Amino acid sequence: VKRRRKWKKMVEVLEELEECCDTPVGRLKQVVDAMAVEMHAGLASEGGSKLKMLLTYVDKLPNGSEKGTYYALDLGGTNFRVLRVHLGGQRSAILGQDIERQPIPQHLMTSTSKDLFDFIASSLKDFIEKEGNGLEQPLSRRRELGFTFSFPVKQTSVSSGILIKWTKAFSIGDTIGSDVSDCLQQAMSRKGLDVRVAALINDTVGTLALGHYNDEDTVAAVIIGTGTNACYLERADAIIKCQGLLTSGSMVVNMEWGNFWSSHLPRTSYDINLDVASPNPNDQGFEKMISGMYLGDIVRRVLLRMSEESDDFGPSSSKLATPFVLRTPLMAAMHEDDSPDLSEVAKILEEVLELPDVPLKVRKLVVKVCDVITRRAARLAAAGIVGILKKIGRDGSGGIASGKFRSDMPSRMRRTVVAIEGGLYTSYTLFREYLNEAMTEILGEEFSSHVILKVMEDGSGTGAALVAAANSAPE
Ligand code: ADP
Repeated sequence: VKRRRKWKKMVEVLEELEECCDTPVGRLKQVVDAMAVEMHAGLASEGGSKLKMLLTYVDKLPNGSEKGTYYALDLGGTNFRVLRVHLGGQRSAILGQDIERQPIPQHLMTSTSKDLFDFIASSLKDFIEKEGNGLEQPLSRRRELGFTFSFPVKQTSVSSGILIKWTKAFSIGDTIGSDVSDCLQQAMSRKGLDVRVAALINDTVGTLALGHYNDEDTVAAVIIGTGTNACYLERADAIIKCQGLLTSGSMVVNMEWGNFWSSHLPRTSYDINLDVASPNPNDQGFEKMISGMYLGDIVRRVLLRMSEESDDFGPSSSKLATPFVLRTPLMAAMHEDDSPDLSEVAKILEEVLELPDVPLKVRKLVVKVCDVITRRAARLAAAGIVGILKKIGRDGSGGIASGKFRSDMPSRMRRTVVAIEGGLYTSYTLFREYLNEAMTEILGEEFSSHVILKVMEDGSGTGAALVAAANSAPE
């Protein structure tokens, strides 16, 4: 009887989770509206919303006419990449591209600005010196480079910006407050390289640039990987906080949407505890419900709670109480285990969480927990995307943007493309399916056929070279 009571308790934990994480389409539409409203507020005034809505000064997206050889550096995580992209012009596909990946030595992440940028410039120099496929630039011509720098930057032009703070594993005091393009430019001069930083962008802008290069109907880009962020093309007159300063008709806005928050988001005690224990409490609330850095840990927290209610998990495991031991790809592997006896789930529970001999019926609950957390994440991400479409009047409803009738919108059925990138969307099939399904639910069957999510590959690097190309003088 006691055993049955404990089983019941565990099922209750699951049922409560399901209820708290529920995202019926009505709720998703509230999130859509909240996203559009917050975007508006963030564009109206500095600090007007949790959404920073950062200006990128990118007002010319590549369109396929670019020609020549361009370089890119992509710094944003533990690896950094150097790229060379050959563009043929006249809407041709990218002719060719070379990429070199390199880990950033650990000690440089906490060293000095000079050490880090000298290392980057050296790698670029080695890369350039290895050229020899006939497509390289003549030596007389200065090379143009796009720099993808995925940390919070206050942009001052399309090619310059001030570092606000380091994130992830980086912490180099003397870079904060300086212009990161200058840092790179000076390091390149020290190495004797004649290279100009023609664009400084963050990774989502790279994804958008690549999307737009391939397809001019691309209006927004979303990354859902370790973290999550989005950017989109906004009309200059809707960017109220710097009205008059912008000369072009439109500009890419970097939303920093990981920090979005709304009372309509279905939040559980697990989310609250994860946030409290994080190094950045009250920050990145949307990201903490959606991105790969966190999903596995939310699941771990639920399983820990279940194991406290019942000894069906076996003797308590200290592993289960260790933050971040359950990485999202492993969680996904349990979720997608289609073996009849859930042998993959058993294996991961044993090897990663040190829980051997978890009975099949409990393993089924584990899969269900993964499903609830991933489904919620994917559906919220979909609502965020539709929020962007709503803000720019591409969700089929007319938009909240201007309120006035816009005769330049020939049809409510205009084809709309959103570029998407990141391991969660590309490698986690069930996440992708839930996201796509929710898009259709929110937009409706008919309208959603005009909205296309297109996967980009390596947009963060390639896109920087493309933005550099679009912002360089023609050859
Ligand atoms: P990053 O965001 O780190 O630059 P990616 O876009 O490749 O790089 O995303 C990597 C993240 O995607 C990982 O941290 C992980 O959380 C998630 N991920 C990668 N592969 C899978 C997978 N098969 N299933 C679920 N999540 C995955």
